[in-house]
Amino acid sequence: MVKSKVSIVKTHPQPDFRGVRKAVDEAISLIGGIGDLVKPGMKVLLNPSLVAPPTEPEKGCITQAEVTRAVADVIRDMGARVIIAESSAVGVDTEKVIEGSGYRELREKGYEVIDLKKAAKAMIPVPSGKVFQEIESYRLVQEADVIVSLPKMKTHDQANITCSIKKLKGLLSDKYKKLMHQQGLFDGVIDLLSAVKPKLALVDGIYCQEGLGPIFGKPVEMDLIVAGRDLVAVDAVCGLIMGYEPEKVLLTKNGAERGLGTYKQEEMELVGVPVEKVRRRFLRAEEDNPVKVEGFNLIFGGVTCTGCRNTVMSALVDMRNADQLMYLPGVTVVTGDPEIPPFVSSEGLVTVGKCVPEWKRGKVHVKGCPPNNAYVVQAIIGERAKAKRMYAEGDLESTEKKE
Ligand code: SF4
Repeated sequence: MVKSKVSIVKTHPQPDFRGVRKAVDEAISLIGGIGDLVKPGMKVLLNPSLVAPPTEPEKGCITQAEVTRAVADVIRDMGARVIIAESSAVGVDTEKVIEGSGYRELREKGYEVIDLKKAAKAMIPVPSGKVFQEIESYRLVQEADVIVSLPKMKTHDQANITCSIKKLKGLLSDKYKKLMHQQGLFDGVIDLLSAVKPKLALVDGIYCQEGLGPIFGKPVEMDLIVAGRDLVAVDAVCGLIMGYEPEKVLLTKNGAERGLGTYKQEEMELVGVPVEKVRRRFLRAEEDNPVKVEGFNLIFGGVTCTGCRNTVMSALVDMRNADQLMYLPGVTVVTGDPEIPPFVSSEGLVTVGKCVPEWKRGKVHVKGCPPNNAYVVQAIIGERAKAKRMYAEGDLESTEKKE
């Protein structure tokens, strides 16, 4: 049996581009190179994580531009055309992430960096899909000869970890990102993996995130690059590094059960630095809470997608930064379609987003898909004060005029 090879390479702390390039070269070489995958003239689509701000490398949220550039250079040197393409989370303007993250500078240097949200869409069939028989993606994805997943190593508030498989949601239209949450995330993402068939994963594990990832987690510097052709194996190894048993990570398990790779160590060949030397137990999402306030409840119902999670968490972080947490006790914020426990009083209920069924909505409901985070803050505060704008100019009324 051919084993799935996964390489782990450690960089120097806070590596510059040369250090990153050296680690990327070594990680690719340790898995036997990619000479058989990439041929001159091919279109190779690199899919880094540009999920949402913060964009600073040391925040560990998005794939560092240096990692993407290093992989792009390796592939360009082989005579292929490299397209760097991604669509950020629902409600996030990909261009804003490109702007502040080093990807704009890549564009200026002549790399093709594409905001997929503005690109032509295409339906891609999922021959043995469990949730979808086809998915709405993009023509660039359909036409690519090779797709490379370039994730960030992070914990995730719904999926335990996010790595090379979960990251592929950035190849979906926003409509299908939302549908995936409504119809079944853990099989839907595997449908996507089976449809787009990435041939390589290279993980940016330099600055990672633990706790409430994929956006609001705490940064951890690990200085790692992990690579492999079997995305299930790559994610299993990254899970092990973060302290997760692979069979307990549903996406890894579902991917293996559908024959798309392996998470079993006896079926893998690990090369480079041993896992035990770099393993560090990451804080779990449920152990983290950036806004701990007695008497405040937050209920994310089952269908809640990244759009509403991001909106609500950023609203709470805004309130913390604006010294407005005193308005939280007695309030319950609800998204998606959850069971609302009997202890939640209708007085303090704030429902958020169009996924909350009409009959479950509170007296205070914030419309939108996803709603604006400033309106969530104002809904929580009510008449007691005005929401302070943390990341936008002017007051709420001026926002309203613009929207
Ligand atoms: S309302 Fe919120 S949870 Fe529902 S699809 Fe829109 S952004 Fe996602």
